[in-house]
Amino acid sequence: MSNDTIVAVATPPGVGGIAVVRLSGPDALAIATKHLSPVTAHTSLAPRRATYCRFDDLDDVVAVYLPTAYTGEPTVEISCHGSTYIQQAILQALVDSGARLAGPGEYTMRAFLNGRLNLSQAEAVADLIEAATPQQHRLAVSQLRGGYAERLKELRSQLVDLTSLLELELDFSQEDVEFADRTKLRQLLSTASQQVSALIDSFRMGNALKRGIPVAIVGSPNVGKSTLLNALLDDDRAIVSDIPGTTRDTVEGMLTIGGVTFRLIDTAGLRDSDDTVERLGIERSRKAQEEAVIIIDVTDASDSPDPKGCTNADDGKRHIRVVNKCDLTPMRQAVTQQEGTVTIYTSAIKDEGIERLKQALADAVGDSQKQEVLLTNARHHEALQHVSQALAHAASGLDTGLPADLVAVDLRDALYHLGTITGEVTSNDLLSNIFQRFCVGK
Ligand code: GDP
Repeated sequence: MSNDTIVAVATPPGVGGIAVVRLSGPDALAIATKHLSPVTAHTSLAPRRATYCRFDDLDDVVAVYLPTAYTGEPTVEISCHGSTYIQQAILQALVDSGARLAGPGEYTMRAFLNGRLNLSQAEAVADLIEAATPQQHRLAVSQLRGGYAERLKELRSQLVDLTSLLELELDFSQEDVEFADRTKLRQLLSTASQQVSALIDSFRMGNALKRGIPVAIVGSPNVGKSTLLNALLDDDRAIVSDIPGTTRDTVEGMLTIGGVTFRLIDTAGLRDSDDTVERLGIERSRKAQEEAVIIIDVTDASDSPDPKGCTNADDGKRHIRVVNKCDLTPMRQAVTQQEGTVTIYTSAIKDEGIERLKQALADAVGDSQKQEVLLTNARHHEALQHVSQALAHAASGLDTGLPADLVAVDLRDALYHLGTITGEVTSNDLLSNIFQRFCVGK
């Protein structure tokens, strides 16, 4: 438990109907009651009950005393009128009576230090506050409720068992015994590595869902990519012209379909060019394609397919083929599906087939969204990569018959990095990095 009491305005800065001032720490009740006089029959703040009070002669407020709250400490929340003057005056009065102004994320940091949340859950609180789409919200809630922390806990206990077996051998090193059956050890290590890899792999989709799924619109110049982007976004964002090579850079737009946000990227037409600026654009477009989770391959219905414009469908990404400018040819089909690639026929200029294309985008992420565990946090991703490397080292150590103590060092390293995710291992730098992301008052 902390030894001081912190105070901050928990509501956003500025004027509002009401504002909430929150005190947390051992003296929260004592400090608050110096200023609060209940207006109703109650003479004191009853725990977990809203009490109508006067705060000095400043304002009429509603105060709630929670003996153990979010932070795991006594907390008093005071709802006052939301003028900046009242908020500041209440804060000042509480500071004069012994409270300290809270730093960013300090309430959540206390919740972590008091064991109310693990580190990954504390980070999810920041994600929850920042979530602007249903998808981001769903991911944050899943992490807050435990997410993959359970899975990591299991992994951790397996690795602890393995390490202790190896370390036990050290005590008997003179006698040349092997407690840990090497084949069994190898198997356990390989299972652990697979679990770690699966989590690492889920980051691509998890991160994409969190930030907006990157979708690259690719194809030869002039097939109608920019027009298609505008039709999808219902907006004139990309410059449309009939001079090939007009889109010299990537143009982005966000589109939400069924609660999932897509980040659409119109890429410069892929063709060889001597123009330096256009070549830069082409380079960026290759990069956008590499990062994309979904590729929309656009061709022109009135052209024969241009092999240069078609991307490789074996690149592990989801591809949607769009045959555009269908208004120019008699061929008009709705949707065809063959060998897992869906083909949509559109006329971007006449806004035809656009809804079907949106549906195809939603379908393309349909399954992965339901995946039970998705890694979304870049810090966790990095830590798991270290875990994976350490496990690979340990495995090759076992293969080459390295002494138990050296293999154990790698396992300890894996455990260390695993521990940084949920917070069994922390440092001041790590904590301040994480909690700096929060707003004051959370
Ligand atoms: P990009 O280079 O692939 O981005 O192509 P643009 O979107 O700039 O379009 C090139 C030209 O094709 C422009 O003149 C558009 O008006 C035209 N265009 C785009 N979509 C269609 C369509 O569905 N039908 C017809 N007839 N023309 C289109």
